Amino acid sequence: MVLEKYKQKRNFTSTPEPAGDLEVAAARASKGRSGTGLFFCVQKHLASHLHYDFRLEHKGVLLSWAVPKGPSLDPKTKRLAMHVEDHPYEYGTFEGVIPEGYGAGIVMLWDQGTWTPESEDIDAALKKGDLKFTLDGYKLKGSWVLVRTGGRWGGGGDRSWLLIKHKDDWAGDVDIAEFAPRSVKSDGDFEDILAADKPDVWQSHRPAKGGEAGEMLEAIIAKAAALKAGRSGAAAASRPGKTAASAKTPTRSTTKKATTARASKTAAAKSGTRKSAAAKAPAARKRAKPSA
Ligand code: MN
Repeated sequence: MVLEKYKQKRNFTSTPEPAGDLEVAAARASKGRSGTGLFFCVQKHLASHLHYDFRLEHKGVLLSWAVPKGPSLDPKTKRLAMHVEDHPYEYGTFEGVIPEGYGAGIVMLWDQGTWTPESEDIDAALKKGDLKFTLDGYKLKGSWVLVRTGGRWGGGGDRSWLLIKHKDDWAGDVDIAEFAPRSVKSDGDFEDILAADKPDVWQSHRPAKGGEAGEMLEAIIAKAAALKAGRSGAAAASRPGKTAASAKTPTRSTTKKATTARASKTAAAKSGTRKSAAAKAPAARKRAKPSA
């Protein structure tokens, strides 16, 4: 059954995650046959461990891989991607706090956009364990491949795949996870997402205790509590709506522009062209010949 595993793992009375509407899946599946605008997203998920959930829409649901280190723009850096259960299409724009149960932690919509398969038959490519595709997101673009490793990595049997960037203008040595760490939906970081919910949600049962993820969560809970305290203070002191957090936060378009500019710069540096100079040229010519 469609989304069966997804539904088995979750209790929808205690999780804010979408339940997965089978009618939505059917409607998307029939739209998908026309072959336009397939959705993709990457959700940064701080649970018992930090990982990036890479999702590609196919037949009305989201094929999903958990990528512990996140995608790399460097073709030489192959990233382990564990194939996990299909997720509902509606899950793709979910961002928020899962207070308890499976996947408990914080989910951030780290990137989203559309994907285009580079092979005609997606099912055949998946079966073969070699899916090539093009991404058009805010942070991830260009040609990529997911290759099944046959369990040589991480001991996950046939669930182990590698996510690899192909060499093109969108490849580069920028550490994209570090350079563009925030949400493309809210522009927030984990603490902002938690502060928008209930920072005290894990008073007792933290999804990550100790280790790297535990330390990260500890700091995020403290920051979220501080943000929330500052926000209620700021709201009382000034007009409502203009919060301390939103004042400090750059807009989504700024992030998008910065990321695109940096990626272009990297691509330009690699290909030997000077995009920024080329972009300035028309204005300079205009000034140089005012009478023309
Ligand atoms: Mn996850």
